[in-house]
Amino acid sequence: MKAEVSIVSCRNYQRNQVQEAVKKAIELIGGISKFVRPGSRVLVKPNLLMAVAPEAGIDTHPEVVRAVVKILKEINCRVILGDAPSVWAGHSENTERVYELSGVKKICEEEGVRLVKFERKIWRDGIPLTSRLDECDFLVSIPKFKTHDLTILTGAIKNLFGLVPGTFKTELHKNHFKPEDFSKILVDIYQRARPALTLVDAITAMEGEGPATSGKLRQTNLLLASGDCVALDSVMAMIMGIEPGRIFTTREASKRGLGVSDKNSISIKGESLKNIISQPFELPPTGSFKKKIPEPLVNIIKKLIKYYPVINHKKCTRCRVCIEVCPVKAMNMKNERITVNYSKCIACFCCQENCPAAAINIKKSIFAKIIGL
Ligand code: SF4
Ligand code: SF4
Repeated sequence: MKAEVSIVSCRNYQRNQVQEAVKKAIELIGGISKFVRPGSRVLVKPNLLMAVAPEAGIDTHPEVVRAVVKILKEINCRVILGDAPSVWAGHSENTERVYELSGVKKICEEEGVRLVKFERKIWRDGIPLTSRLDECDFLVSIPKFKTHDLTILTGAIKNLFGLVPGTFKTELHKNHFKPEDFSKILVDIYQRARPALTLVDAITAMEGEGPATSGKLRQTNLLLASGDCVALDSVMAMIMGIEPGRIFTTREASKRGLGVSDKNSISIKGESLKNIISQPFELPPTGSFKKKIPEPLVNIIKKLIKYYPVINHKKCTRCRVCIEVCPVKAMNMKNERITVNYSKCIACFCCQENCPAAAINIKKSIFAKIIGL
């Protein structure tokens, strides 16, 4: 059977237009009840990369989020919504700021949705994922259509990286910084947390050096939906003007049989691809530093990429929780101050995750900053 992907035109983020277009996108592939059981518990995960206003075109637009939430509520679902913003916004107070500035906090208040943070983790086959997955029956993902410096495309599969609680992202980035390796991790996540439905905000997309402030906004005026993330990413690749197999995550997920990437096996509903594809997207620089690293240097470089916890002594209440949770006993109390033995620290960030006073920050080494991790 062919994978179905709907493409619907939507010219702006005006509330009524977005709601109509989102509804149509989902109806074209069979309607919401085909993907999500009425009355079930649903985790909605937009792409909230950083604390910027919707006009920046970096985060999923709040009106697209609202439209999806409304459709779920129409079938009596109990919705919770959250994301783990970018690696360095993993701290609670920063996540709060991302929620506020992106507009999703307001949407959640207006629509009566519980907005949650991804602070606790569960392990699924060695992959740390938000424990919120265990609170829900279904996952609905709402990515933004953008280019990505490391993975070329950040779409359906890449959006799921936000299911990893903030501080654990650092370790995954550190240990898998080559694009092919990192893409395998993304597919591992997809394999363990497959969304029932994915709806892509492609009204304002991004090309060039995405996915954040260095990218260029591009009006594609589209919304896409599917139950198959591989098919969705393949269609986005075609809209970008590239072969789906050029996207590492698409290639890897297809190889593992997790979805359909062959264009002849994808049934497109709604707008015709022929009418959409015009100018190819400007892609991120292909010969980037990370892609050129010769294999023998990889292990040396890994040693230079370091993330480490730093205590904010002004905030610390000396509760000793961090000492108790540190798996390698790298934390101690000396002269009424918490100290970290960095030669023992394995950068698991359990201390930061458990500190009740938000008194532990994560810093990165100069080399990690230089290569943009
Ligand atoms: S990051 Fe992990 S290993 Fe390092 S001090 Fe904190 S709890 Fe201990
Ligand atoms: S858990 Fe936080 S507040 Fe408690 S002692 Fe450690 S750093 Fe201080």
